[in-house]
This record gives sequence, C-alpha cells and structure tokens, in this order.
Amino acid sequence: MSIITLANKDLLIECENFIYSKCSSRPSKSVIDPEKYTKYKNIKQTFIFLDDSEDLFMECISYIFNTITRVNKSVYILNNDSYKIINFTDNKFKILTDQLRDKYNNYVIILKDIYTYPKIQYIYMLSNFFTEVKIVMSQIMSYSIIVCYKKIKEFEIQIKDNYIKDFDIKVDETVVKQIKSDNKNFLENAIRINDNISNMCKSLSEISNLNRETYTINKYYKAFINRECNIYCDCKINNIFYSNLFQCYICEKCLVLSRLFLF
Ligand SMILES: [Zn+2]
Repeated sequence: MSIITLANKDLLIECENFIYSKCSSRPSKSVIDPEKYTKYKNIKQTFIFLDDSEDLFMECISYIFNTITRVNKSVYILNNDSYKIINFTDNKFKILTDQLRDKYNNYVIILKDIYTYPKIQYIYMLSNFFTEVKIVMSQIMSYSIIVCYKKIKEFEIQIKDNYIKDFDIKVDETVVKQIKSDNKNFLENAIRINDNISNMCKSLSEISNLNRETYTINKYYKAFINRECNIYCDCKINNIFYSNLFQCYICEKCLVLSRLFLF
C-alpha cells in the first residue's frame, strides 16, 4: 500500500555467513503479526478481487511510471528504459540471483508477499548493486513489485542453495516497520472483508447484493488501474451504490468512490 525507496548504499555482504535452510522460511514475527496471520490463513477462501496478475502488475507499475509499453511477457519499456520482469513467487533465492546476473540493467521483481525477514534482507541487499530500489505494494491484493534501477556493480552474491534463513545483514528498522504496517493493513482488510461476506451470506437477498457489489468493485478496480474513473459525472442517486465491503458509496456510472453521504 505504500512505496518504499531504498537509496544505493555500500553494504558488507558476507556470503560465507549465509545460513541455509531445507525449505522456504515461515513468516517472521518482525514482519507480520502472528495472530492476524493465523486468522488470515484460516479463512477458507479469501475473497479475490482481480485474480488477474496482469492487472495487479499494471496497478503497481503505474504508481511509479507514466509510460508503460509491454514488449513481451518478460520485458517492458518503462519511462524509456527497458526492464526485465522476474517472477519470484517460489522463494528460490538462488534462481532469482542467477536471473539478476544477465545483460539487463533494470529489473522488476514480482513477489506475492513480503512476510519473511530473509526476503526483506535480500531486497535490502539489492540496494548495494542498484542506483535505487523501490518496493511497491498493491492496494488491492497481496502483491508487490521490487523495482531495481540501473545496475552499478557486478551482481556478486554467491548463493549455494535456494532456501535461506539468514543473509547476515541488518535491515534498517524503519523499512521493516513500514513493511510490517503495510502487511497489517492488508491482513486486517482481508479479515474484515471476509467477516462482512460471511454475514452477508446468511441471507439470500444479501447474496444478490454481494454479486452486484463484486461486479461493481471489479469494474471499479479495472477503471482505477487504467485511470479511467471519470470525475466529470453528476452522480445521480439511481447510480449510487453502497458497498458494504468498502464501507463507502460507489457511483456505478463514473466509478468514483466516496465515504461521504452524497445526497
Ligand atoms: Zn458518477
């Protein structure tokens, strides 16, 4: 939900001190509230807005770039520079590191979540090799991108295996706190929406409202991502719809959201 910028800094990276693990790390307490995480994990089926990762990618990328051109699935031209797109959804650090060693200077790494400390350590370490690194989180779903601008140093992290427990690097406290707070907001939202939906599903008439609401919210999200929410609308009463999930009003015509009572 926020954009975190890491400026280039010289870090002492000691690859021989990395601690390896047999599997992917569990969520870290320093990054996520364990109680909320368990509650979130227990939701049988999380309500999914925008299942299409292409939309989420566009959402995040448009927070920081004005001109976006897709060359193919793994290359985009963003504000006149080419970026290689890397999917890091399996938490395999060795594979990611190898991918960051090719001819490109700019990268966008896609992450499903930032729930573990080693993941934050890795992102933090990237600022040693690039002019700037930005962490951009979606406002809609659990989805983040890491944008790495202009490689300035050879990417010389030596990694022997995929899963790492500790990169032996101390991350700036404010960065960890900010990510934790974003995670907290996301989990709280997901839990609240799930509670609202469970309540709504107790009656049939509410279920049809839920369908209308899901349809409207999806339409709103698509318009939001494509910057198409039209502000030049006189928002007639017939078009105003109250969203229980968002706890706000949506004009179904121009898709503008409002928390105010409009009429
Ligand atoms: Zn309107």
